[in-house]
Amino acid sequence: MARAIIFKLLLISLAIGCIWMINRNITKQPNQLNNKKIIFSFFGAPGSGKGTLAEQCVKNLEYQTLSTGNLCRKHIAKDTKIGKTIKTFTSQGKLVPDEVIIEMVTTWLKEKSNTNKPIILDGFPRTKTQAEMLNKILKNEMPEYDFRIIRLVIPKEEIVERLVNRIVCENKKCQAVYNTSMPEAKSGICPKCGSKLIKREDDTKEVIEKRFEVYQENENKILNFYRSIGQKIEEINISKLSPKEVFENFKNII
Ligand SMILES: [Zn+2]
Repeated sequence: MARAIIFKLLLISLAIGCIWMINRNITKQPNQLNNKKIIFSFFGAPGSGKGTLAEQCVKNLEYQTLSTGNLCRKHIAKDTKIGKTIKTFTSQGKLVPDEVIIEMVTTWLKEKSNTNKPIILDGFPRTKTQAEMLNKILKNEMPEYDFRIIRLVIPKEEIVERLVNRIVCENKKCQAVYNTSMPEAKSGICPKCGSKLIKREDDTKEVIEKRFEVYQENENKILNFYRSIGQKIEEINISKLSPKEVFENFKNII
């Protein structure tokens, strides 16, 4: 009698094991078995460290990252057709239209499409319209890519605390960022280039809180669009984590 029960239990656990293995393979499939190229979009409030995470991915995983701000500046400096268009808007103090930004990003993406390196869009799309346009382009013109959204989650209070104590290098070419509690920043001189470390005028509690709320509201609109089309949003809780720990958590989900 006892033997029969043990045998049955064994059979049941074997079956559970099989189901688990099958499930695991199915859930793994989209990321690891189909060899699709990946575009990540990083979301996270200003000061959450998404730029730092992107940098670590470039340095350690050979990813490619796109910052639309930097790309705009490059086009303006090279005086390209897109650069000229951007300039006509910014010189009048106007926002660059989503269509122009999307054209610029799409051109960049297509230039990179001959490599298999994963791509990070750092803080892009920035508006719901950009998200809708990007979604269409990826679907129709770049079906070889998997699109994944990574959202860094952090409480407002922690962002305020981080940014209120932030000091930056005044040398525009260096732009290193420190915290008043860091020993290497105690002297008020940038350890990297020797320039003065200063507090940014807009790093006050009120301004930071406002910036966070405006960001959150806009992010909600974009993410609601993605939810409405069934796009998965992968979250990393980065509260109290160091940049290194954030990177480790990121590596665990990719
Ligand atoms: Zn510096």
